[in-house]
Amino acid sequence: MTYGTLYLCATPIGNLQDITLRVLETLETVDLVACEDTRKTLQLLNHFNISKPVTSYYEHNKMTKGDVIIQHLKDGKHVALVSDAGMPGVSDPGYDLVQQCLAEDIPFTVLPGPVAAVTALVLSGLPTDRFCFEGFIPRHKKERQQYFERLLKEERTMIFYESPHRLEDTLKTMAEVFPERPMAAARELTKKFEEIVRGTPAEVLAHFEQNGIRGEFVLLLHGAEPAAPETRDIDWAVARVAQLEAEGISQKDAIKQAAKEADLSKRDVYNFIVQNK
Ligand code: SAM
Repeated sequence: MTYGTLYLCATPIGNLQDITLRVLETLETVDLVACEDTRKTLQLLNHFNISKPVTSYYEHNKMTKGDVIIQHLKDGKHVALVSDAGMPGVSDPGYDLVQQCLAEDIPFTVLPGPVAAVTALVLSGLPTDRFCFEGFIPRHKKERQQYFERLLKEERTMIFYESPHRLEDTLKTMAEVFPERPMAAARELTKKFEEIVRGTPAEVLAHFEQNGIRGEFVLLLHGAEPAAPETRDIDWAVARVAQLEAEGISQKDAIKQAAKEADLSKRDVYNFIVQNK
């Protein structure tokens, strides 16, 4: 029997008009729709007059339910996986099912569409040439502080998901760790009250303290300024010789290699070492 295909379908993150024609067509043609919250997905299907069996697949039943979905696929049934919003598998169930499909050689494909992270990135005006997605921020203060400290030297624009209940505390920690760093908070993307607030963490915090915190948020942080390129002068070459010698390379070969790496002459490096002994 030929296996069915799993279709990972992106769905709107707010505005229902953002559903793609291909996702609608696929939801109409599959045998089963697996989703996080059946009520939410039935609303979506009803809105588009699609009548289809749905089954739940979420964080706490994904192990057992994953096997059931895999069996359907093995039986030749086509299954669509949707999350409550955006792309399944991105901070949402989906990854484990993909792993199961890979393990069982079951075909799967992705139908692109809305993703809160990328929508917020472009709206933020922060650099888009290099970025990293960090998902949800740790909930506890100490962990959050250490987590941000580890990101101090990250040069790419960073994208985070955050719940409205933790936004204030998170912005306070960001203000401590990144006092001067430009950031943005994207709220209620694609919805009626879509808003983007740009500034330092303290400025963004002040805005929400004044206006209240409502809706869903993506936070974005400008990357660190790139570290100044290392100057490979004679001091660098001498230190490099010592490092190579410590690794067991002879002084002669270490000088040869260090001089080459620093674009200096072997003689200059050798003379400097002898004169400064
Ligand atoms: N899979 C989704 C995606 O592709 O973006 C994300 C799901 S994750 C469980 C939910 C988080 O995404 C929210 O807590 C929020 O950070 C962000 N999010 C989703 N919809 C949003 C919206 N309309 N505006 C701002 N943030 C949103």
